[in-house]
Amino acid sequence: MFGRTLRLFRVFGFEVRVNVSWAFLAILIAISLARGFFPATYAGWPAATYWWMAAAGVIGVFASIVIHELSHSLAARAMGMEMKGITLFLFGGMAEMDQEPASAKGELVMALAGPAISLVLAALLLGLAALGRGPEGAGPAVAVIDYLGWLNLILAVFNLIPAFPMDGGRALRATLWAISKDLRWATRWASRMGALFGLALIVLGVVSALQGAFVAGLWWILIGMFIRAAASGSYQQMEIRRLMTGVRAEDVMHPLTEAVPADMTLAALVDRYVYATQQPAFPVVEDGGLVGVIGLAEIRTVPRADWETTPVRAVMIPADRAEIVAPTTDAMDAVAKLQTHAVDALIVADGHRPVGVLAQSDVLKLLSLKMDLEAR
Ligand SMILES: [Zn+2]
Repeated sequence: MFGRTLRLFRVFGFEVRVNVSWAFLAILIAISLARGFFPATYAGWPAATYWWMAAAGVIGVFASIVIHELSHSLAARAMGMEMKGITLFLFGGMAEMDQEPASAKGELVMALAGPAISLVLAALLLGLAALGRGPEGAGPAVAVIDYLGWLNLILAVFNLIPAFPMDGGRALRATLWAISKDLRWATRWASRMGALFGLALIVLGVVSALQGAFVAGLWWILIGMFIRAAASGSYQQMEIRRLMTGVRAEDVMHPLTEAVPADMTLAALVDRYVYATQQPAFPVVEDGGLVGVIGLAEIRTVPRADWETTPVRAVMIPADRAEIVAPTTDAMDAVAKLQTHAVDALIVADGHRPVGVLAQSDVLKLLSLKMDLEAR
């Protein structure tokens, strides 16, 4: 969503990644610390000192966010949920999970673990800063520790705001879930709080921008928009999971009986197969065996004028390069696989025996029908 992501290191088995947009945040923090916060709080030090302090501050912010996200991930693992990793991006950090929590208790523990550790860190750092402050006030190192103490406190408090998908919102959802026994209802209300809070941030941002704090205002507007999008996105994602539960690759795939000969021209394929059956993808066979898949994306790579002379074989995805899933694979997992590899269709195979071809649009068509009939 925000461009390139780099892998940094692994810790406790979790991959820590940083999105390029985090560099923007780091620079913003460095400048505001070196030119604004530190000179205003500790006047009269050399400019170079402020920059060193700012650099240490940025590293500390990075570590604080990683530790916060790491405690979510470790708590999730302790509660039996597996997390994919941690990504730092423009608005902070994210511990990615690809499944819904198994229980309200598990989600509550996971949601509160991050802010709890941030609070502990805040207490430690602020205590350390208080101890390190001499009779003539704080030196540069103590000033940075003091700053990081306050940062962790803000991190904890901001994340505890009960607006899904923030930590406080997850805790709210877990509580509503425990009371109502209805995850869907709990998610709906926690997401509404998230959307409302996002709106409040946007209004706050507009007001402070109008009062002259333009950069800070813009920042609040962006965070507000992000929280609103994340709140409605998480609810939709849960609805999709719910509607598609139990739908497997074999339920939506096209069986090999609909296969296309590899030497057929694209013109004939489009005319006799695509338009006639309105299917987006087909298995391709040669001498009775499956040799590849072809979907609309592959056909589109050839100009219309060349369809008469181009055989299916020339543009299909060959079987040995196609993505393969088992017939029992969850249909939404298959879609996720299609999207990560940016292809239109994949092969469904039972062991080594291909049984069909699955296209993303078939799954999405079923989803949209289900949304039409079952979601409200
Ligand atoms: Zn958190």
